[in-house]
Amino acid sequence: MKKRKLVAMGLALTMALSLCGSMAFAEEETEAGTEAAEESEELVITEDVQEIIDRGVLRVGVKNAVEGFGYQDTLTGEYSGMEIDIATLIAEELGVDVEFTTVTAATRTELLDSGDIDCVIATFTITDERRESWDFSTPYYTDHVTVLVQDSSEITTLEDLVDKTVGVSSGSTSARSLVEAMIDEGVLTGDDYDSETFDPALWEEGVSFRQYDDYPAISTALESGEVDAFCVDKSILAIYKTDGRSYIDAEFAPQEYGVATTKDSGFSAYVDTLINRWLEDGTIDGFIEEYALG
Ligand code: GLU
Repeated sequence: MKKRKLVAMGLALTMALSLCGSMAFAEEETEAGTEAAEESEELVITEDVQEIIDRGVLRVGVKNAVEGFGYQDTLTGEYSGMEIDIATLIAEELGVDVEFTTVTAATRTELLDSGDIDCVIATFTITDERRESWDFSTPYYTDHVTVLVQDSSEITTLEDLVDKTVGVSSGSTSARSLVEAMIDEGVLTGDDYDSETFDPALWEEGVSFRQYDDYPAISTALESGEVDAFCVDKSILAIYKTDGRSYIDAEFAPQEYGVATTKDSGFSAYVDTLINRWLEDGTIDGFIEEYALG
């Protein structure tokens, strides 16, 4: 009996000691966690980041016709815009050259997945669905979606788009954004809308869509009357808003642009650290001012 009691006391002591031990360990872990959080602002050179450094070139997918973001001068071949500047700064930080590849909404993810490019900085909206497949940095800019029409169409509101055909880019958020805005506005009932299964090609409830591979093709389709309207982010539409064309009286669906990288790669954390740094130190605001994007 005495022996049993001793064993029980011994057990209690061991448990108490191990509890103390694990509390001390937990404290150490918290300290380590705080240090890690502080350190996360430091740039970590993981194996994949080292590969880019060893290669000597950062390959970036950018737009070529979005003024102020990614724009290529057709005569000189030079790219300019805030997304070009962000790419250039990332390359500078890595100590490598930068190489631009023009991408579209339809091609950017394929090129990232195939490893042809290291990141996409191309008016790429962060969505929960996309986050399942790629990493996105903290947003560096927020745009809105709107609709461009020929003045002769006399379309000026979301309501006027009922039963019309709208041109959108494949691989974009545009059709979904427009349908949701029309539902929110009470122009469409939304009875058949399911965000999980929505497909622009199949949607015919009160508005329908034609999908194109690039924006010049939609602009041409708008001119010829193949579509009644052209829907995408305002920053992208700007270059196509020529004489005789206007935006409708609605802006909707905030589009947060982030730098997309391969899911769970070390480069994702590297890029995010830089974007946060440049959001904090005014670099990004400087670009917004420089390119009059405010
Ligand atoms: N920003 C929108 C998207 O990511 C429009 C498409 C585009 O960026 O070209 O879907």
